[in-house]
Amino acid sequence: EAKALGRNRVAAYNMAMQNKAAERAHYEARLRDAIRAGDIVPHYQPLINLKTGALCGFEALARWTDGNGRPVPPPVFIAIAEETGLITELFERLLSHACADAAGWPAEVMLSFNISPVQMKDPLLAGRILKITADAGLAPQRLEVEITENALIEDPELAGNLLRELHAAGIQIALDDFGTGYSSLSQLARYRFDKIKIDKSFISTQDDERQEKIVLAMLSLGRSLNIAITAEGIEQHQQLAYLMAHGCDIGQGYLFGKAMPAEAAAAYVRERQAMAQPA
Ligand code: C2E
Ligand code: MG
Ligand code: MG
Ligand code: MG
Repeated sequence: EAKALGRNRVAAYNMAMQNKAAERAHYEARLRDAIRAGDIVPHYQPLINLKTGALCGFEALARWTDGNGRPVPPPVFIAIAEETGLITELFERLLSHACADAAGWPAEVMLSFNISPVQMKDPLLAGRILKITADAGLAPQRLEVEITENALIEDPELAGNLLRELHAAGIQIALDDFGTGYSSLSQLARYRFDKIKIDKSFISTQDDERQEKIVLAMLSLGRSLNIAITAEGIEQHQQLAYLMAHGCDIGQGYLFGKAMPAEAAAAYVRERQAMAQPA
């Protein structure tokens, strides 16, 4: 009986894997087409300075709506792009697009852009980024690159070189999804970051005293290392009030706005400017 159960499980597992492989092959072909057709575009989520209330940047988040009008989740198509080597082409198109949009925003509004761990293996990455910003006419000082902890582990020397090259060019570096990866604290000791982004999983938990204490510790860590802290995933006023009361520097989340298309982001900028300068 136990054997039969085991066989059933194996069959179910194989079935799931086959479906997965088929799904993947299906997406790979369509991903290639979508990238070339320009169907994957950056949307922009506002980043708010919590000390002043000013808009201080937008994070570019890739969006792909497939032929049937269904959005494909970024973690799905980014993973396929990574596995198939399409990530470099996707990245170059998205970054050029985003830099061109950002060049039209006020100078104090930064562009944050995510770099996948797979790209960190490319020794030419810093050069590629600089060429794209230059071609778009965006000052490198207005670009911030977001990398995750896991991206730093595989080849620390290569990662160190990349971060040094980017910093030398004036580009800022944020440590994304802080607290969810491996050995967060040793990364902070080893590399210089301009910003730490507290992962939304720490923000979203309601009335959890332990989580709150961890957030407090992260805020105080940022203060003592003189690194600005962004909190991701702010959805409720209560969460915002807590973060503001404890000195969090920057906020991001549905409370301020979801990622929006370029035209909507430009309108968001204009609204904010009108609010800041009442007639
Ligand atoms: P991330 O860089 O940590 O981006 C933040 C994610 O949190 C985004 O999900 C954003 O839509 C979501 N988010 C922001 N505020 C809230 C909130 O208040 N509530 C909730 N529930 N979610 C919120 P998204 O756009 O689905 O992207 C997921 C991940 O995919 C990103 O995480 C990033 O790792 C990756 N990604 C997205 N675009 C790109 C890209 O252009 N290149 C690369 N390499 N990775 C990307
Ligand atoms: Mg990010
Ligand atoms: Mg993040
Ligand atoms: Mg995240």
